[in-house]
Amino acid sequence: MRSGVTADQLSVGSNQEAWWTCDINPAHPSFPRIVNTFTGGKKGTGTKTCPECRLVGTSVQELLLKAELATVLRIDQDRKQVPGADGRNAAVDIVAVDEHGRPSLVLEFDGVWWHEGKKDKDAAKAARLRAAGLTVVRIREAHLGPLDPTFDLVIGFQAAAEDAAADVLDHLVGLGLVERAAADRYREDSFAGPQNRALATQWIRDRLGEAALRVERNLHKERWARMHAALVNYEAAEGHCHPSDQQVTVGGVDLARWVRKQRTLVASDGLDPERARRLSAIPSWSTASAHDASFRRQCDRYRAAVLNTDGAMEAREATVWANNMRTTRKRMVDQGEDLPSWKFEAVASIPGWSWDPFEEGFLAKVVILQNFAAETRRSVGSINQREEWSGHRIGVWVNSFRNRQATYDAERRAALEALPGWAWTPQEDTWNATLAELSDWAAEHDRMPRAHAADATERRLGVWKRNNKSKRQGRTDDDQAVRLRALLAEYNEHMP
Ligand SMILES: [Zn+2]
Repeated sequence: MRSGVTADQLSVGSNQEAWWTCDINPAHPSFPRIVNTFTGGKKGTGTKTCPECRLVGTSVQELLLKAELATVLRIDQDRKQVPGADGRNAAVDIVAVDEHGRPSLVLEFDGVWWHEGKKDKDAAKAARLRAAGLTVVRIREAHLGPLDPTFDLVIGFQAAAEDAAADVLDHLVGLGLVERAAADRYREDSFAGPQNRALATQWIRDRLGEAALRVERNLHKERWARMHAALVNYEAAEGHCHPSDQQVTVGGVDLARWVRKQRTLVASDGLDPERARRLSAIPSWSTASAHDASFRRQCDRYRAAVLNTDGAMEAREATVWANNMRTTRKRMVDQGEDLPSWKFEAVASIPGWSWDPFEEGFLAKVVILQNFAAETRRSVGSINQREEWSGHRIGVWVNSFRNRQATYDAERRAALEALPGWAWTPQEDTWNATLAELSDWAAEHDRMPRAHAADATERRLGVWKRNNKSKRQGRTDDDQAVRLRALLAEYNEHMP
């Protein structure tokens, strides 16, 4: 039954029976909308691809992948069958042969459209081929799980052929079928695009017909739109266009990898102008970014060094990187600039990071100041600017700690405030010192000094006490008021 209603006329969630017309070739029979589960946007905004075109699409993906793999593997281009254990031939997708031309490895491409629900049949066929001594690797498109956890791998949904091929080669390295160096070289070479495009195009034209090239372009267009939409969402949430590896995947396709590829294409003028325009419309999109991407990677490796996890920079490299980062920022700040905020945050969020190399020894210095106070019985606040102790320039340290107050986190502030007599400002020091003097004088005379005394010292302390009493009366939230009140109370003097 056809209602004659096209999907565009329907709202989301409509119960109305809907049939779609194939966008790729409108002459194809129309088809029920339910089939478009994987590509449809919220309102079925994805290209409406009929079952016939999808079958072609799967073959197109397979041929693109096969051409890419042929740059590394010895692939028998024309072989479509191998003998199974029962002597019968089995039709297969991709056959790699050994140096004598004998089939050794069978790669089956399982596109999600045609292999969902064919699990048992696919598994039985693989078992029959394995029994005949062949290595069988099923390349399963995302949404399909691996049938055999050792031999099978899952690639992204409608992944770019070169990305899929790089993943397949990595997987074959794990199975001992491909050299690590060969897989790495392929990944590097294919970063910005496929390596065997011309051959793939010829195969598609020869075997599937000219119209199949249109299907191929459409696959590419859909993937691009899907990843672009994901980047727009990511940027809106995170404020930058630098997802980390595997942070966001769309149908198994890594957004970070896709973004790097777009940057590389932009840098080499290889991106379609309309696409370049759509990217540059994203607020924080930056094209000066081959460098940015490398910065991200370095930053991640430095972080790994700090956390002692995989992929870490070697210690000397890490020190050099951190020093360069600090020097660069200092130079910028001196010129009234700063790092872009995403860069600043990427670095500042590294555990234990400090922008000031002087701060590297922060805790060591705090410990020395603790020792100073314990051994000399002096307050840290009484240290003068030029003072040295045990060969340490403690006066310079105290001064520099104070100047950096605004940049310290709660932990660092607490460490300094725990030092005997610590004060953030020199004025506070003077106050502390005078209170100590008052306390000593009172202890010696067993009373408080008077503001009108004949003795100059007593008069000075008496005036100071009177002024502070009136200035701080009624204050309970003020540390100085609390301390002065407590001292006065020892001599039965009341401070309101
Ligand atoms: Zn069609």
